Amino acid sequence: MGWQEYLDREQERFVGELLDFVRIPSVSAKPENIPDVKAAGDWVVERLGAAGIEGAVLLPTDGHPVVCAEWMGAGPDKPTILIYGHFDVQPAEPFELWSSPPFEPEIRDGKVWGRGASDDKGGMLVPIVAVEAMMKSDGRLPVNVRFFFEGQEEIGSPDLPPFVEANVDRLKADMIFSADGLQWAPAQPQIIEALKGLVSLEIVVNGARSDQHSGMHGGGIANPAMALAQILATMKSPDGLITIDGFYDDVIDLTPEAREAIARVPFDEAEYLAETGAPAAVGEPGYSVRERLWARPTLEVNGLTSGWQGAGTKTVLPAEARAKITCRLVADQSPERIFDLISAHVETHCPPGVTVKTERNPGRADPFLVPGGHNASTVAEQVLEEVYGVKPYRTRVGGSIPVMTTLLEHLGVHAVMFGFSHGDENLHAPDEFFRLDTFRRGQVAYCKLLERLGRD
Ligand SMILES: [Zn+2]
Repeated sequence: MGWQEYLDREQERFVGELLDFVRIPSVSAKPENIPDVKAAGDWVVERLGAAGIEGAVLLPTDGHPVVCAEWMGAGPDKPTILIYGHFDVQPAEPFELWSSPPFEPEIRDGKVWGRGASDDKGGMLVPIVAVEAMMKSDGRLPVNVRFFFEGQEEIGSPDLPPFVEANVDRLKADMIFSADGLQWAPAQPQIIEALKGLVSLEIVVNGARSDQHSGMHGGGIANPAMALAQILATMKSPDGLITIDGFYDDVIDLTPEAREAIARVPFDEAEYLAETGAPAAVGEPGYSVRERLWARPTLEVNGLTSGWQGAGTKTVLPAEARAKITCRLVADQSPERIFDLISAHVETHCPPGVTVKTERNPGRADPFLVPGGHNASTVAEQVLEEVYGVKPYRTRVGGSIPVMTTLLEHLGVHAVMFGFSHGDENLHAPDEFFRLDTFRRGQVAYCKLLERLGRD
């Protein structure tokens, strides 16, 4: 019996196991669920054992535990791949908006409904059952496989960087595949090749010691709110070009091929405007809206505070004005260098009569870009094309995924997202679901991926 037949024969059991997994309320954000996150980790250890992967362990971090396992029987001539996923879930509140209870999963319309069904319990069970099918039908795997599953992804993986750094030998691999990922649509696969980085800061402008009477001091001393507005107005041209000296210096320009790949992905500007309610699309000249969203850095004011915020009039000359700013960064920009450039810009553009300082706020991520000709990415693309029967889109994401940069930083490997969830599956929202046909298709894709990697 080959792995295909094994998957067919055991599919019903796998679906039942997914229901069991979803029943564990492993909400990493809530202290009362700490034992449940550990229980989910224990469940994964046992499930890996049943799949024929011996020696899986639950390991502590400073927060929720992780699960590590490996099967190295393919020998040193074959590559070692690391498969990542997470067994924690988002809180399920508000419960009353669910059609069925979030931790009492149900199957309706060919979908499993429950918190974590899609993100990421269904996703991370896919490679486990795929490996089981190969182990049980062939007695071995075509490549060496390591598993790394965490229990704190939904709270931003705070304890993961030190764990990865201290456990490089346990996690080292030639390629990394993340089972926590999305496909473009049920009939359209994608390879995500870039994520944006982030830097977060605050500009603080000060004038008088305290708020002053605008009739007594207006015209006599500077107004920090106006000074802040003047500084901000120098940071971007009206058409959207960021005018901070050196801001674009480290940006890797889009190659003609990269632009072509982005243009292949359908984008309806009218629909985009209808979705956001904005009257027009505006941004850096010379780039399409999607290029700006996916592949160009941004600078946005996220909040402004100064003076009287209540109803009516207060004739105040504010003592302080603050602007919160974040920049989404692209490769090879560095959050630290961008902060320094903005800081210097603010200093030089500060009008007279006020003092100004620029401070870092929490939140930082390095940009992530899979290099061209990346082997794991190419193989994943070929497998997806074979399984879906259409060429995958090459897409990018405007946000960041901290674990991807953690793995790159400490293991030196660009992870490839190879997950089978979809953006419409109510991730992080009520009525989360996972499609059973993509659960099955993902298993085939992982088997084919391992086979192909073993052949190369
Ligand atoms: Zn996830």
